[in-house]
Amino acid sequence: MNAPDATDETVDVAPDADVDHEPDPNAPAVDIHSQPHPADAASGISAPQEKIVTEINTSLGLEDKVILVTGGNRGIGRRVVLLLEALGARVAFTDRSENKREHGSLAIHADVTYPGEMERAVETIESELGPLFGVVANAGVTRDGMFHKMTHRDWDAVINVNLTGVYNTVRPAFPVLREHGEGAIVLISSIIGERGGLGQANYAASKAGIIGLGKTLAVEGARKGVRTNIVAPGFANTDMTLAVPEEIRANIAAEIPAGRFADPMEIAWPVAMLLSPVAGGYINGQVISVNGGHRM
Ligand code: NDP
Repeated sequence: MNAPDATDETVDVAPDADVDHEPDPNAPAVDIHSQPHPADAASGISAPQEKIVTEINTSLGLEDKVILVTGGNRGIGRRVVLLLEALGARVAFTDRSENKREHGSLAIHADVTYPGEMERAVETIESELGPLFGVVANAGVTRDGMFHKMTHRDWDAVINVNLTGVYNTVRPAFPVLREHGEGAIVLISSIIGERGGLGQANYAASKAGIIGLGKTLAVEGARKGVRTNIVAPGFANTDMTLAVPEEIRANIAAEIPAGRFADPMEIAWPVAMLLSPVAGGYINGQVISVNGGHRM
């Protein structure tokens, strides 16, 4: 049966076809941006696509964008702040324990478990930096233990920061972004939220909850120009994993096809991509797993 778009032309795709796959070193350099794709002419999308391609050459479109990162003083959050700044964004970050600003445009002392503090954080950002564009809900904790021994206290502590803390962060920001008519939210989940993990029932439940929350925000924000995506990191070298005994860390690293934990910057880049209206403008409601192939 012919494919619906089959033409009279036949193309020889036999594996032994006499095709030279080696690039010709004497061929003139090709500017891919000046080569219209055959589909462009038919669809009429070439002009705006060309503009986007030009923007890719120079930026991710994050210059002067105001972005809030929770837990931006260390670990993955700190790297996200540093990278977004390098890409030209104006970054506000929250932390609980310290309030000295070595990076970022604005440091806000706030605990994500207190709704009032996060409401005030959003108000402060809007008044000091300008219209909020992005939110990275990154703050998180672990209180590991086998489920049959897990206390209510450890359950609540993790759910309060990792899930309710994300609600407290996004709740005041989401209406603001919808009102602005543009915005991007990235929620930091975990490989453990995708597949569970020994001794991490509370953490897995909180990180799986984030995925459901993010996908719902993706639906509710889309028509208002607000995208929400989820990044699910695998194991990364931060204080959080340093708390795990070295022998266990070595065993985990041996399970990972990459053979190592991530550098936190390797998590920060996909976050920036998803925030970017250029690189991530049509990505919404997705879970981006960044785990060195640990879970496929
Ligand atoms: P770290 O332990 O290095 O840093 C945790 C950050 O969260 C700190 O900035 C901390 O602030 C902040 N934080 C914790 N509780 C609160 C709170 N109640 N209010 C405000 N801020 C708070 O963690 P990572 O950088 O490793 O983790 C960052 C995120 O990535 C977390 O959500 C984590 O679950 C997730 N993740 C991490 C992985 C890893 O292997 N490292 C793997 C998968 C997901 P303070 O310094 O003030 O305590």
